[in-house]
Amino acid sequence: MKPEFIRNFSIIAHIDHGKSTLSDQLLLKSGAITERDFHEQVLDDLDVEKDRGITVKARAVAIDYEYEGNIYQLNFIDTPGHVDFHYEVSRSLAACEGALLVVDAFQGVQAQTVANAYAAIEADLEIIPVVNKIDLPVTRIEEVLEEVENIIGLDSSDAIRVSAKQGIGIEDCIEAIIKRIPAPKGDPEAPLKALVFDSKYDHYRGVVTYVRIVEGTLRSKDRIRFMRGETVHDVIEIGQFRPSMEACQSLGPGQAGYIIAGEKELGNIHVGDTVTLQGRQAEEALPGYKQPKQMVFCGMYPIDATDFEKLRYELDRMALNDASFSFIPETSDALGFGFRCGFLGMLHMEIIQQRLEQEADVGLIQTAPNVTYELKLNSGEVIKLDNPADVPESGNIDEFREPIAKVTFILPADKIGAVMQLCADRRGIYFNTEFLGTDRAQLVYELPLAEIIYDMHDKLKSITRGYGTMDYEVIGFRPADLVKLDILVKGTLVEALATIVHRDSSERRGRALVKKLKEEIHKHQFEVALQAAIGSRVIARETISALRKNVTAKCYGGDISRKRKLLEKQKKGKKRMKQFGEVEIPQKAFLSILEAG
Ligand code: GDP
Ligand code: MG
Repeated sequence: MKPEFIRNFSIIAHIDHGKSTLSDQLLLKSGAITERDFHEQVLDDLDVEKDRGITVKARAVAIDYEYEGNIYQLNFIDTPGHVDFHYEVSRSLAACEGALLVVDAFQGVQAQTVANAYAAIEADLEIIPVVNKIDLPVTRIEEVLEEVENIIGLDSSDAIRVSAKQGIGIEDCIEAIIKRIPAPKGDPEAPLKALVFDSKYDHYRGVVTYVRIVEGTLRSKDRIRFMRGETVHDVIEIGQFRPSMEACQSLGPGQAGYIIAGEKELGNIHVGDTVTLQGRQAEEALPGYKQPKQMVFCGMYPIDATDFEKLRYELDRMALNDASFSFIPETSDALGFGFRCGFLGMLHMEIIQQRLEQEADVGLIQTAPNVTYELKLNSGEVIKLDNPADVPESGNIDEFREPIAKVTFILPADKIGAVMQLCADRRGIYFNTEFLGTDRAQLVYELPLAEIIYDMHDKLKSITRGYGTMDYEVIGFRPADLVKLDILVKGTLVEALATIVHRDSSERRGRALVKKLKEEIHKHQFEVALQAAIGSRVIARETISALRKNVTAKCYGGDISRKRKLLEKQKKGKKRMKQFGEVEIPQKAFLSILEAG
């Protein structure tokens, strides 16, 4: 395929503005899928994506389209919109020359519209604004176009208007892609340079590596070399996603596709690596990607200790498919052998956990998430800390530093006061306000990351009745008066329940936490004392009273079927419990911290 007939672009937008639906239409209009095979969000094929109706992994698909007598190949990438997945988006952008910026015709420019658009501008892409959902009964198309101009600074005079749902305006959109997005450059005769932008593990075929060819040509019989991994393989198959995997003979500059090379060893393939030919090597590797910074950590432990190796294998498989996820083994007095896992944010954590349970069938105990901290010790040494259990004696700490994020809210102007109050309650520092037209505003704050990742988004949604959106970016670490809050269960310290909190809110948090734990931990044959402590000082206490002899009789009178249900429920619940000395603590208790704000 000649590069002049190839176009590479990403589809970017705020969540729910219609990227996946537009991708479906592109597949349909190009004949890549038929009306018969058509079902919504074809590309969202992970179970988690179907369950949640969101895109988590970027997908690269090739379609052919005839325009003015020529066949064009359009390679496009449907990307996730959520703030946790910026990393997926920025990688996709690096593999493209253009981007469709999809904006909802009613909701207009939102926080992630701005963030994604800026990322595309930084990557030097040709951006085509697309106003979607023009079929809605109420739209604000003209205002939306103005927002695109005023907030993002793009010329919106030739924006495309579409309804992805009803298939209106799709041809105009494709014509704009062909006319406005530049063809890829690159010499098909040069030594091969292909950028690894993703990979996944297939149980049958081994590692599938996703590449974009930057220079040279990759052929189906080649012997390839991963420049950073320093491994050599014979290619078994190359191909493209159309949208299912379809083998082909060669891939030239600008084309995206996959390589299967019989690699079975997980961890040998690195996203950002460069593939070249073993016989005819490129002189230097492509720049690759910036390593993303994990900001949220939690422990993951197999409920059944014999599942440890299985869990390691599954985490490896996850990390291969998601370069922004990391893990290292750790041990806990109470939970045994497990892993400390790092994520980009809370949604990312939930998604990985859900994928592990759905795809891997390993029962997990997950400890409460925390952000990463920086400690300056008295010795002058600065250390990173991702586990509250590792906080040294307070006497050894010179400075306790927490991550700070710059948070941008876009919201209805009449909700500014309420959101400012929310930020003030969470130790926010006001930055500025900008009005976007008459009734919407952009508000910028600096907030401790720990105060926003757990529930800020939910709080914002409820305050603004769903109309407010936010985006954030970590800008650095700052000293704060932080302390480790310990939890003692029946007199024993349970490290896995420890958290790091601000001193001013420690008593309130401690009280709320033991109260919540009291609800989550069931009664035992004996009394169970729950205590929250800072150092040796107990700041809150609750007691779970001892069980009476016959639970079911007491709780449920004589109804036999309800009794049986209760017992079954207890049995099921047991699967996700851990024994701490004499006390059983269920999985949910570990997450109490999130609800005991
Ligand atoms: P994404 O998060 O950007 O990938 O958004 P989706 O493609 O998943 O779409 C989000 C929601 O908007 C879905 O319920 C779609 O059916 C709906 N939607 C997408 N495009 C249109 C459109 O053109 N008109 C209308 N009325 N709804 C649409
Ligand atoms: Mg989507």
